[in-house]
Amino acid sequence: MTDEYLAPVSLWLTRLPASPSALDVPLHRRPTNACRASSQSEPRDQYDSTYALKTHRRDQFIEWIKGLLAVPFVLYSQPTGVFETNGFNVTQMSEEAHRRYAEIMRDVEVMIDDHITHQLDASRVPSKLKLLVPTIGNFFTRLPLEAAFKFQDRKRYISSRRFVSPSFNDVRLVLNTAQLMAVTTHGTLQLATFDGDVTLYDDGESLEPTSPVISRMIDLMRKNVKIGIVTAAGYTLAEQYYARLHGLLDAIASSTALTPQQRQNIVIMGGEANYLFEFSPTSPHLLSPVPRERWLTAEMASWSDAGITALLDVAEAALRDCIKNLNLPATLMRKDRAVGIIPSSSTVRIPRESLEETVLVVQKILELSVGGRDFDNKLVPFCAFNGGRDVFVDIGDKSWGVSVCQQWFGGDGAHSRIRPEQTLHVGDQFLSAGSNDFKARSVSTTAWIASPAETVELLDELAGFMSKKLS
Ligand SMILES: [Mg+2]
Repeated sequence: MTDEYLAPVSLWLTRLPASPSALDVPLHRRPTNACRASSQSEPRDQYDSTYALKTHRRDQFIEWIKGLLAVPFVLYSQPTGVFETNGFNVTQMSEEAHRRYAEIMRDVEVMIDDHITHQLDASRVPSKLKLLVPTIGNFFTRLPLEAAFKFQDRKRYISSRRFVSPSFNDVRLVLNTAQLMAVTTHGTLQLATFDGDVTLYDDGESLEPTSPVISRMIDLMRKNVKIGIVTAAGYTLAEQYYARLHGLLDAIASSTALTPQQRQNIVIMGGEANYLFEFSPTSPHLLSPVPRERWLTAEMASWSDAGITALLDVAEAALRDCIKNLNLPATLMRKDRAVGIIPSSSTVRIPRESLEETVLVVQKILELSVGGRDFDNKLVPFCAFNGGRDVFVDIGDKSWGVSVCQQWFGGDGAHSRIRPEQTLHVGDQFLSAGSNDFKARSVSTTAWIASPAETVELLDELAGFMSKKLS
């Protein structure tokens, strides 16, 4: 497992053992609020903050595809058609744009196929895609981009636009659709894992009974797809998770569509990879904690208590320094598997810039002290992140959390675990290696959503593809 952490970075789907050139990519930018701030709308192409590492706060693969689509847009869009009616036919224009965009997506699709062939044979020279997009990682499935583009173009009328070129969000959604098609038509989806904040509910809110995502998640469970909620929220008590997820848990308990066996198709993985809860219909909060020895993967079991304590000690000292140097209105919070800072009272908000600075400082100090970046640290992997109002350093990260779900539902041993290509992680934090959902790319396919409403749309798309396969 550890070797997988050698490879960064802005791949769309996954990260497998790296080629040396991949290591050249700087890693230490933290997005967090770039995503958070836009959580009510959509990820933007431009960010208003100026960071020394700003250029890395972009997804190069998406930007590259956007650039390819911009060429036919510039050459064939007909902005004058708005006021010149003679000579231009808007329908013809959109058909021509559609054909050309689809051709480009097919060309990229073929390039990904070639890249997959290269990644299977690590000794070969880099793929053409790797040369064009150096930060590209590895893929667990092929991506039917042409079909996915046609699907999204029917929904979003991308080809009909004359003033607004294909955008970052257009491309992001096409990639999501392609991934859903791949895990349903070429393979069989067995496990869906979800981030919490911004993915299932708005930032800091909870999953209320009225949320439209609940019925979609129960539908997945009914189809025997396993569910993992893999969240950074690091609570130790069932009661605290119930407070955030009660709408879903109550619905599972009272659902007549689910068999008793299917009710067990869900687990909560808290603190990225630190606390596992299973559904328990007889418990007061419908969840019961699972002792670590029952779910730690073999790799995780090898992290020593002394190593964990030492890492958290370094992080704690760095956080205390930040509180002092930035004069933060914050208090330190130490847990058994995490350390962080939270606002000193519920009425104060730590400025976003201070949160970002703290994450970058702590991450750098930890990297220097343990001799490796967060995810390629051989001793104890960690994850420093900006939670929107607070900063935490967790032991492990979501790649470990998703791995635990794969083992929990699939069984122990390399062969029985649910495989990466049978797993889909849905989250909102993918903008760089510092984002916690990004890390799931090393162990599963992923979908990048920007709001709980997009998650609902994604699950409807998924249900559509799953039923198409059955019929
Ligand atoms: Mg989130």
